[in-house]
Amino acid sequence: MRGKLKYEGKGKRLYACDVAGELIQEFKDDATAFDGIKHDVIAGKGRLNCAISSFFFEKLHAAGIASHYVRKEGPVEMRIRELTMIPVEVVVRNVAAGSICKRLGLEEGMALKWPLTELFYKSDALHDPMIAVEHAELFGWATRQDIEQMRAMALKVNEVMSGMLADVGIRLIDYKLEFGRTADGAIVLGDEITPDGCRLWDAETGRKLDKDVFRRDLGGLSEAYHEVANRLGIEL
Ligand code: UDP
Repeated sequence: MRGKLKYEGKGKRLYACDVAGELIQEFKDDATAFDGIKHDVIAGKGRLNCAISSFFFEKLHAAGIASHYVRKEGPVEMRIRELTMIPVEVVVRNVAAGSICKRLGLEEGMALKWPLTELFYKSDALHDPMIAVEHAELFGWATRQDIEQMRAMALKVNEVMSGMLADVGIRLIDYKLEFGRTADGAIVLGDEITPDGCRLWDAETGRKLDKDVFRRDLGGLSEAYHEVANRLGIEL
């Protein structure tokens, strides 16, 4: 099924496939943090992320949120629609953690009164700087209307995912989404939704079940991701 390698990132590879306009997204076992300075290969991580990402995209689809997801194709492979990616990442935060704490001097764990959306310019070389909608407009990355649509979709994702995770005793602290355009110009969700790009805390103990386990050497990453998959009833 896999054709030519079209793209390789830190956590995934994209291959051409048998259908024009579709790609195979392969999840790698690599774990990276701090712009790739910290790197490890964790056996089984690709499989976990592929299963978790497919699960979330299916649930989001059922809730009316369009994405590039077509179907889970294999243990580490997802079939997707090819998108023209928009170089603006949307971060949604329910609780203060990570970069916002450093930037604004907030205490980690402070619940936010309502979900906050932030925009970042997707550029490894520039370390994904935070931007305002004006930058996206001025530099032609996305229009104001595009950004509004992305923010609205990101908040709808928050409702669906927060609820689903709360039901299994997990708090959705924050997460990053990427969007792209389909061939007919519609904006849909792209990339992946995994514990690599979300913060997930156990609702009772506060135990971290996401990539912070790796970033901060808090124990086994594979065990944490397994816990997320098991609680959501995801078959591996
Ligand atoms: N995030 C991501 N990729 C990025 C930047 C952030 O997946 O390039 C995710 C991160 O895992 C967290 C959320 O987005 O769930 C908010 O990240 P933050 O801005 O706090 O940055 P961090 O301190 O995690 O680098």
